[in-house]
Amino acid sequence: MLYDAIIVGLGAVGSATAYQLSTTSKKVLGIDQFQPPHTLGSSHGDTRITRQAIGEGKHYVPLVLRSHQIWRELESKANTELFQACGGLIFGTNLNNAPVHGSPSFLEVTVAAAKEFGIEHQVLDCQEMQKRYPQFHYQGTEIGYFEPGAGFLKPEKCIETQLKLAKENGVELQLNQKVVSIEPNSNNDGVVVKTNTDTWETESVIIAAGAWVSEFLPESYKKFFKAYRQIMLWFEQELPYETVSPEHCPIYIRLGETAEELFYGFPGIDGEHCGIKIGIEQFCDACTVDTIDRNVSADEIEQCFKQISKHLKIKNNCIKSAACLYTVTPD
Ligand SMILES: Cc1cc2nc3c(=O)[nH]c(=O)nc-3n(C[C@H](O)[C@H](O)[C@H](O)COP(=O)(O)OP(=O)(O)OC[C@H]3O[C@@H](n4cnc5c(N)ncnc54)[C@H](O)[C@@H]3O)c2cc1C
Repeated sequence: MLYDAIIVGLGAVGSATAYQLSTTSKKVLGIDQFQPPHTLGSSHGDTRITRQAIGEGKHYVPLVLRSHQIWRELESKANTELFQACGGLIFGTNLNNAPVHGSPSFLEVTVAAAKEFGIEHQVLDCQEMQKRYPQFHYQGTEIGYFEPGAGFLKPEKCIETQLKLAKENGVELQLNQKVVSIEPNSNNDGVVVKTNTDTWETESVIIAAGAWVSEFLPESYKKFFKAYRQIMLWFEQELPYETVSPEHCPIYIRLGETAEELFYGFPGIDGEHCGIKIGIEQFCDACTVDTIDRNVSADEIEQCFKQISKHLKIKNNCIKSAACLYTVTPD
């Protein structure tokens, strides 16, 4: 058998898998159809939120706490910055908030998880938030959860760093090769992985293909994985840049009474002319990697501005936009 493991897809998940396997004695090959990091999957857009107390479910907490250790290990190994703990604010009115990522009591579960795992946090009333976070417009009834250990990752740099370290540790990488089939070998004791140009044999395969995962699934499983186009927008800030910089502005999730009202955002990270990034979510119109509209229309930008500027101090000037894919299962 040539390899112990072949990783199909080297985005956020595959690059982390490649790095972790590279610290073992396994013989590993990583394959990607493009040259990660790229902008065609789910891992682009400059920043990703990372939190410690997970409102989607307390069972995720040990995983994220470990991931924060790993980011710091990677930073010191690669002498780079991947994770900035600028703090995180989750807030909404104290009316009924819509479920977030399947969690009906997102804010309550977040607070309960923080308490259970001893994660440093503060529960804030509206007055306190107004004092500390002038970046937002408040209605007066908001409540918030602040976590100093939350922050953002730079996903493209995370991928690049993990692939670089994996390669240095001996993982082989084949880029710009598309895996076209994964089949048992003739003895039924291994797997044959074919790309558009090569064939390899391996003990095991790890599929980290993101929104392309359905290409590898039997028909009966495909229905469990749905891809949804999501948009990210970089608006000009209304306040002086310093006020929205990571030293003064946390990452935030502003809950809404409907899922569509939720938005999240980041401090400005690239200087005063680059805007502040916000994102909204939708789970109504499924798409595929082939049908996704990668452009963000002027209409979408206008609608977003209308919705978000009620809560966030931004100017009606969208500097940059991008579309990305969430791959979602029913649970
Ligand atoms: C707009 C947006 C905002 C998000 N915000 C957050 C956030 O704040 N915090 C958070 O934790 N998560 C967030 N996520 C989710 C997170 O970014 C994704 O879960 C993660 O990036 C998924 O990584 P992946 O490796 O599964 O997919 P991808 O990065 O898309 O990687 C899949 C890879 O597989 C390769 N591939 C596919 N098929 C083949 C094939 N046949 N042969 C070879 N290669 C193949 C692709 O080329 C690709 O490189 C967000 C996602 C989006 C879209």
